[in-house]
This record gives sequence, C-alpha cells and structure tokens, in this order.
Amino acid sequence: MTTNLLDFDLDALAAFCEQLGEKRFRATQLFRWIHQRGATDFDQMTDLAKSLRSKLAGSAQVKGLKVLSRHDSFDGTVKWLFDVGAGDVIETVFIPESDRGTLCISSQAGCAVGCRFCSTGHQGFSRNLSTAEIIAQLWFAEHFLRAHLGRSERVISNVVMMGMGEPLQNYAQLLPALRIMLDDHAYGLSRRRVTVSTSGVVPMIDRLGQDCPVALAVSLHAPEDALRDNLVPLNRKYPIAELLQACARYQAFAPRDFITFEYCMLDGVNDQPEHARQLVALMRQHAVDGLACKFNLIPFNPFPASGLTRSPVPQVLAFAKVLLDAGMVTTVRKTRGDDIDAACGQLAGDVQDRTGVQERMASQRQGMLAGIRVVLAPESPA
Ligand code: SF4
Repeated sequence: MTTNLLDFDLDALAAFCEQLGEKRFRATQLFRWIHQRGATDFDQMTDLAKSLRSKLAGSAQVKGLKVLSRHDSFDGTVKWLFDVGAGDVIETVFIPESDRGTLCISSQAGCAVGCRFCSTGHQGFSRNLSTAEIIAQLWFAEHFLRAHLGRSERVISNVVMMGMGEPLQNYAQLLPALRIMLDDHAYGLSRRRVTVSTSGVVPMIDRLGQDCPVALAVSLHAPEDALRDNLVPLNRKYPIAELLQACARYQAFAPRDFITFEYCMLDGVNDQPEHARQLVALMRQHAVDGLACKFNLIPFNPFPASGLTRSPVPQVLAFAKVLLDAGMVTTVRKTRGDDIDAACGQLAGDVQDRTGVQERMASQRQGMLAGIRVVLAPESPA
C-alpha cells in the first residue's frame, strides 16, 4: 500500500523522506511541488534526483478526493461535492469577494454534536476525515481555481473550518492540516486568515491555543445555558461560562484581538431584544477576563426536521441594534451562492445533510436543477 503524501505536514514529510534515506531539504522541495504547484506525478518534479523519484513512485502517491459535482453560482461562489467513500459525501465552498477568496472546508463526514438548527447535526456522525481529506479540499480548490481563472498567483487567501463537522472533535487530523495551510512552503496563509469554528469543545480550545493559534469562531446561539443546552447539546458538557473562560484564555494566543461569536437567528427562540440584552450582559461579565468579541448574526436556512424558522429581517436588525448600541462589533452575514445552496458553515442549512446531498445529486443526474451549472465529471486540480 502506498502512502498518501497529502497526509503529511512538513515535519512528517521530512521523517518519511528520512526513511527513504533523503535529507530534509528534499522533503521541502517535494512539499512545494505538491502544495504550491499541485503536482501529482513525481516525474514532473524535475529538480528531485531520479533515484528519489523512483523511490517515491514505489512507495507514495499524491491522492486527492473524488469530485462528484461542481456547482457555479451566478455570484462566483463555487461548491464542490466530494465522495469520501462508503456513501459519505462532503462539501467544500469557495466564496470570492473583491479583497479575498475564502474556502469553507469540512472536517468530518456528518457530525456528532447534533445542534438543533443544523441539518448535518440531524443526520448524525459517520467518521472523521483524515488530514489528507481535509487538506485535499484546499489543494484541489486552489489549483483548480488557478487553472480555471488563468491565475498564476494564489486564489484562496482565507480558510474557514466551518463546513461539515466539529473540527475540534477531529483534532489529531486537523492539526497537521492547519500546519500545512500556514506553512510558507505550502499555502503560506496568515494565522489571521485561517479560522477554526467550534461549537465549544473547551479542552481542545486550550490545546489549539498552545499548538497552533489561528483565528477562532464560536457557535454561541444563545445567551444562557438552558436555551443553549437545547440548541447546542454540547453545552451540557461545557456550559457557557466555561466556554467563555476558555475563549478568554485563547485570546492571549489568538492572532486577532477578538473572538468571533456566531449567532444563528431563530424566530421566537433566541432573537428577542431580551436575548440581545442578556448577551451584552454576558459579554461584559467576561470582558473582565480579557475577552473581546465580535458578533456575526446569521440568517437561519430552514429545513423541515428542525421545526425552526428564520427570524424576520426587522427582528434581526432590532437585535443587532441592541448589540451595536452597547458598543459590540456586530455584522449580519450576507448570504452567498443562494442559487446553489452554497452558504458554507456549521450552521443550519449552511451545510447540507448527507441525505439531502444525495437527494440533490439524484435530481441533478436527472437534469432537474434548472439554472445551475452542474459538472458531474471528476476534475483534475490543475
Ligand atoms: S452546527 Fe457544527 S457542531 Fe453543530 S451539528 Fe452542525 S456541524 Fe456539528
């Protein structure tokens, strides 16, 4: 069985090369070929000695994911569905803006946290993705987009771990993937531009702060424990006070001077002015620990099993006004790629449940998705 080199950060690749009797600088060259140039064929890597290329050919490969389909939105958003085997499908979404290109990446097939407003959570957990499966989403998207947009420079400037799954429940595989994203010999992304979004796995927030502090987003969605217990079941294990204390500790290592708190606006559930006032009080209480926050209010994408509905716009604006009047930085997330269900995220409907994906796949195959450009053939990254 051959080793997939997408599984390795630079240190692990150097260890692998050492087993082949090669020095570290060879690993760096190889790493650059793979991640900076999207190469899969060792014969392309002409500055590597022939003897190394033949050793690699016999023991290793660069193996990406199988593309099931690509959906291009009128606004430039692109969504890919990848087959990760055994009936599991994951999503990756590219969102272009004038000053950045953001890729939303999945960390698990399904999710065990079971948030009430999240269709992925309703479908349950299948398995953790490997490091190769996590980084292959970036590797593929970057080189595919460069080729298709005719660009030689980097296209993806930001990564958000907000696709399917709770990334901090797949920490061992996540960590090398983050290191590859940040490595100057690979993608060279700034720590400020790589965001891990979590529902609140407190011990792993502390680990991340020690091991690889990148920008942190927390799915909060409620200002008090009884309501959050109901919306984000993990809260029963790590209640709000513990979570916010962990965020304050993280702040000492974080590359940004605030933590982003995601708040999905659910009609009549968590979107009343009283909830906003409770949030203000909560954040002021934790500001003494050094916690600085930014709120991102997110429109809920309804799905039948949730029994929840989207807050009306005036309600969202009234909620935002309470936060803004209290001096809290607050944004309302605009939706992108609506025509392809592409809003990425851990948040309800942002990530499609696996059953939903498969249903849509079936309907796409029958040519029933009008107005969307769908590509079902597997694609090569470059
Ligand atoms: S919101 Fe995130 S943590 Fe919660 S169920 Fe969905 S994917 Fe899992």
